[in-house]
Amino acid sequence: MDAALKPVILTYHSISDGRTPLEISPALFAAQMEWLKGNARVLSLEELVALLVKRSPMAARAVVLTFDDGFRDFHAAAAPVLRKLGLSATVFLPTSFLGRSNAWPGQPSWVTPQPLMDWAEIRELADQGFAFGSHSVSHPDLTALNATELEFELEKSKREIELRINRPAEFFCYPYGRWKADVRAAVARHYRGACSTGAGVVEPDADPYALPRVDAHYVRSMSWFRRMFTRRFEAYIAARRTIRRLRRQPEGIYARA
Ligand SMILES: [Zn+2]
Repeated sequence: MDAALKPVILTYHSISDGRTPLEISPALFAAQMEWLKGNARVLSLEELVALLVKRSPMAARAVVLTFDDGFRDFHAAAAPVLRKLGLSATVFLPTSFLGRSNAWPGQPSWVTPQPLMDWAEIRELADQGFAFGSHSVSHPDLTALNATELEFELEKSKREIELRINRPAEFFCYPYGRWKADVRAAVARHYRGACSTGAGVVEPDADPYALPRVDAHYVRSMSWFRRMFTRRFEAYIAARRTIRRLRRQPEGIYARA
């Protein structure tokens, strides 16, 4: 396939008017979704991973929408726009913080605590067709855990989501984008795929357990957002990745403090 048409998995956190890298305003979000509706094919994460695993040709101009941390504003601000446009999305939940806030230990100091959805809201959205995956129980750096602790984070979060929404939770998202070989292997025993924060478009041979994503913060300018599926867009995202590596910053914007 044309290199410039590779799929893009977008990462959102909060859809609100704050000014941190975690926040995309409702107006900008609506404009981005309108553009995707007319210019991209929005697939579910399940559909994209199925194509990768089968080594099937990738759908041109494919986009997957993911939302990390389960912010309450997904229910209030994002879901109505997605429903109106008929776009699917996957939300990754840190199960022990639901109904509370994102004030977990290790949060960078610039993050303002914001409320997360509760199970009633999540159940309502699941009934409307939104997909939910695990973002662990307690949002730890999984690479710092022992095998028992790791198993707990992977198994308990999956079981609780499935019990609460009565549907499978087949995908995982590494907190802070942090993983290594034994973490990946444990995730692969429970899930069908996992998202990282390593910035990039999805290559045809991408590892389904370390899927690269493009953080919405990197493309908050509509002029960059509209360049999606071009070589310039790929080069721009690759440059953002390189800059973080040169600065020895972890992948993604949501680095652990
Ligand atoms: Zn997170």
